[in-house]
Amino acid sequence: MIKTDITIAGGGVAGLLTALALARQNIEVVLLEKQKLEPVETVKPTGRTSALMTGSINFLKDIDIFDAVKDTSCPLDKLRIIDGETSTTFDAEEIGLPCYGYNVPNETLKNELIKKLKTFQNVQMLDDNGLWDFEERDDHMIVRLNDDREINTKLLIAADGHNSVVREIAGIKTIKAGYKQSAITCLINHSRAHENTSTEFHKPGGPFTIVPCPGNQSAIVWCEKTQDAEEIIKLKKSDFTQALQDMTQNLLGEITLETAPQSWPLKGMIARKITGHRLALIAEAAHSLHPIGAQGLNLSIRDIKALTDLIIRQKTLGLDLGALTMLKDYKAQRRNDIYTRFAGVSGFCKITSKKSKGIQRLRQGGLKLINNVPFLKRQAMRIGLGANVA
Ligand SMILES: Cc1cc2nc3c(=O)[nH]c(=O)nc-3n(C[C@H](O)[C@H](O)[C@H](O)COP(=O)(O)OP(=O)(O)OC[C@H]3O[C@@H](n4cnc5c(N)ncnc54)[C@H](O)[C@@H]3O)c2cc1C
Repeated sequence: MIKTDITIAGGGVAGLLTALALARQNIEVVLLEKQKLEPVETVKPTGRTSALMTGSINFLKDIDIFDAVKDTSCPLDKLRIIDGETSTTFDAEEIGLPCYGYNVPNETLKNELIKKLKTFQNVQMLDDNGLWDFEERDDHMIVRLNDDREINTKLLIAADGHNSVVREIAGIKTIKAGYKQSAITCLINHSRAHENTSTEFHKPGGPFTIVPCPGNQSAIVWCEKTQDAEEIIKLKKSDFTQALQDMTQNLLGEITLETAPQSWPLKGMIARKITGHRLALIAEAAHSLHPIGAQGLNLSIRDIKALTDLIIRQKTLGLDLGALTMLKDYKAQRRNDIYTRFAGVSGFCKITSKKSKGIQRLRQGGLKLINNVPFLKRQAMRIGLGANVA
């Protein structure tokens, strides 16, 4: 039987960040991951990046991982929304920030986190090995692995993603949002500079977003109705590149593909509860959002910050790391942010995909109003940044 303070189920970005935040405070951590967690010398680029806002970047700095990914990330100085003939640019300088945050490549971040975690004596990474069951006890929890090993832990953190097994075993129900869209992602090269500007085109099938990467490269997140996305992904390379050229309306000059396109079905969900007996749900195990507005991982990092701060407080005070009062505090701190982001993103996604001329006029009128009233514009920018986790 392995004995530990904290067990984290899931070694995606969220589970790895949580492990590092706790490991740095001398807390014993076991991290379980179904897949292999081996660091590589050179990360192969994928089209998946995350636009992380200032609060998230500050968290990455606090746990000493940002420097390892900074050179492969791109500052986000401006966000531009194009809806029909209306274009509105939100410049970070308008709210006194040098930039909104950085666009960070997912695989590089994961690779650097794995490398760093391997240097901690108090972290055991049990990869290629999933959780399949757990059992509550009064002062601890027993977690069972696929290979029949058992872990005695004070707290189980579910970071096992959208289809969380932990959430299911705990009997926690979810609220779902049917977006009926898929996102096509890829990395492109372009002849014109992006000037550290992220551009989101609003269109009936879903948003089309160009997110800047270092140099003359950008990540594409192209949302379409699932059926249409399935057709687009099957296009020949030359036809797909031409389709991108049309979608970007030559904003970035001539385009070439750096990575092959991939398609991701988009599913919205929030868990009805984010805590249980000696159990906390974080990140996509607790909520998954449409990528419009780049809120998903930013929201998850706020979960991680709140939960790890509470666990560290308990440790400093010599208190139980899975105490009910601590879990109540976690729930109280996170509930509003999760519900309002989920409702906001789902609503925004519906409004921006509406074809009706009336709704389109309202949308464009709203954007113009925001653009012309500095107070409204600053408020909109602050809402987009999320509650700060500085
Ligand atoms: C197209 C797209 C673009 C996005 N862009 C942005 C953006 O710009 N900004 C932003 O903030 N967010 C963005 N997001 C959201 C962000 O990518 C996700 O929130 C994030 O990657 C999810 O990470 P996670 O660790 O919570 O989940 P996952 O990556 O799903 O990780 C879960 C892990 O748990 C493991 N696992 C599952 N079951 C078990 C088990 N039983 N035992 C052990 N391990 C298990 C899985 O193997 C997996 O590794 C985007 C999402 C999409 C789809």
